Amino acid sequence: MNDLNPAGWRPAMGVVGADEAPATFTGNRALQLEEPLLFEIGELGRCGVDFDGEASAPMPELGAFLRAAPVDLPGLSEPEAVRHYTRLSRQNYAIDLGLFPLGSCTMKHNPRLDEKVARMPGFADIHPLQPVQTVQGALKVINELAHWLITLTGMHGVAMTPKAGAHGELCGLLCIRAALEARGDARQVVLVPESAHGTNPATAAFAGYRVETIPATPAGRVDRAALEARLGVGGPEHSDVAAVMITNPNTCGLFESELKAIADAVHAVGAFVYCDGANFNAIVGRVRPGDLGVDAMHINLHKTFSTPHGGGGPGSGPVVLSEALCPFGPLPFSELHADGHLTLVEEETAGERHPQAFGRMSAFHGQMGMFTRALAYILSHGADGLLQVSGDAVLNANYILRSLDDVLDAPFGAAGPCMHEALFSDAGFAEGFSTLDLAKGLIDEGFHPMTVYFPLVVHGAMLIEPTETESKAALDQFIGAMRSLAERGKAGDPALKSAPHFAPRRRLDETLAARKPKLTWAKG
Ligand SMILES: *Cc1c(COP(=O)(O)O)cnc(C)c1O
Repeated sequence: MNDLNPAGWRPAMGVVGADEAPATFTGNRALQLEEPLLFEIGELGRCGVDFDGEASAPMPELGAFLRAAPVDLPGLSEPEAVRHYTRLSRQNYAIDLGLFPLGSCTMKHNPRLDEKVARMPGFADIHPLQPVQTVQGALKVINELAHWLITLTGMHGVAMTPKAGAHGELCGLLCIRAALEARGDARQVVLVPESAHGTNPATAAFAGYRVETIPATPAGRVDRAALEARLGVGGPEHSDVAAVMITNPNTCGLFESELKAIADAVHAVGAFVYCDGANFNAIVGRVRPGDLGVDAMHINLHKTFSTPHGGGGPGSGPVVLSEALCPFGPLPFSELHADGHLTLVEEETAGERHPQAFGRMSAFHGQMGMFTRALAYILSHGADGLLQVSGDAVLNANYILRSLDDVLDAPFGAAGPCMHEALFSDAGFAEGFSTLDLAKGLIDEGFHPMTVYFPLVVHGAMLIEPTETESKAALDQFIGAMRSLAERGKAGDPALKSAPHFAPRRRLDETLAARKPKLTWAKG
């Protein structure tokens, strides 16, 4: 028993038992069940359905297309199929199973109220091609969510259709390009700080820009002097910089406190500020990016405003826009009329009313299920609740930072509090031991590992985002596990080097898996 471990949970310094246990007949280890592929357990002739009578004769009009050999699909009874997927699901880690410390991903509890609202048939069972007058409620949800996103960010408008964070980045850059082209200015360069999320440079390159990197300061923030020096090249009249993409709070878990001054410098040379707003949950209700001079910012509804993600459900990345960029936002969007009814402004009606729209991000209006969840989240939390969301997210991360910084190196720990995520490194581990070993050890402790080796500015980075939905008891258990693993890493415990010991699979050759993935199954 100690302060961090009130439940009396015992850290294991050596791993005993897992490797010495006798082999079982089935290959199962108690409730850890070995599960072959469906193709390996299925057989022709087994079937989950009784057909009524004989199958009808093949259609002669198929001619040469008629299949000569069996399809070779696995035949399974209904319980076999159900068990297969249930067994596989039990080998997976989930937010409903435990704390999910993945930094930069905001793996928080998904309020069941939001799920209930998203499943209401009036929202869940409608079709995007239904006549607009039959989906007025859904359009009202989109419109009202748009209103609250604009209010919370202090921006001028919002494009609701992008379907994830990175998709939103592309939308923002296409707006910027359309705005520059409208004034006959074909700038080629997008500046991205070293500490940016990897999607930022990828998006800029995808949108056809040349990416130049701006270094970070020793305090983990954008080097403003270096940025301003680059902006000054060619003079304000002839700058080749289209935009600067800044993540705030950034991927070191730090607030870019000079963003306003940076935005002024960017605007002075006629360029635009793109803000990666995926970490909005750290500042929601406290900071309005519009007040900091941001021109475009995506919001990951699936991080800040609930919705399942992380190998789970789809995402949604609406992009809030400044007044300068609004005319270039994509179609379609909903429009509220004086009598209260809503219409969708589509390409064909754009003609005079939205002539500068750069095009479309998706076929229809965006992720309806994410919109209902996000609006339910915002309205059920209210202004005070959202303020508490960002407050608790930051408090929890700082609790982890200060509970571990005596056993783990915290590269920016001396610079003061962090925002919503705490950053550590493996500096001080025994020779041959690294972040990867600690991450594998966390699997044995029953946790999903934290984000590792990201951000790239820190060697052996461990990025931990507890989110606002974890209790102090849950954080204490995680901290206890981390302290134990950090000490084993520093002591060079050989059992840590071969972790995980208790997982369905041991340490895999991840390089081989990535380089030579086996994506098909051939009959043996
Ligand atoms: C998650 C994240 C993204 C990308 O969002 P997706 O929805 O996964 O495309 C971009 N930037 C940051 C900082 C993120 O955390």
